[in-house]
Amino acid sequence: MSLLSGLLRFRSRSRDLPCQEVVEMVTDYLEEALSPADRRRLERHLAGCEHCTEYLAQMRETIRLAGRLTPQDLTPEMHTDLMDLYRRWRTEG
Ligand SMILES: [Zn+2]
Repeated sequence: MSLLSGLLRFRSRSRDLPCQEVVEMVTDYLEEALSPADRRRLERHLAGCEHCTEYLAQMRETIRLAGRLTPQDLTPEMHTDLMDLYRRWRTEG
């Protein structure tokens, strides 16, 4: 289980791929390590989910700055930001 998946336990309103699963797949997606089927599922979810689109954008930016991304590269501040982000999504729902 990834560090993020432990933090991001929330109920998704998405019919297809849960947001939590998307979050777990984003790193592989950005590293082009997903199977074509998973990639399609993820992209379909992104097309209809602004939250995960925003998350993906943040990950892209992080990778741009860091050159690479592993869960260990996330700073405590980033974890706090992500927690705030997901808490906001939940309360908005
Ligand atoms: Zn989502």
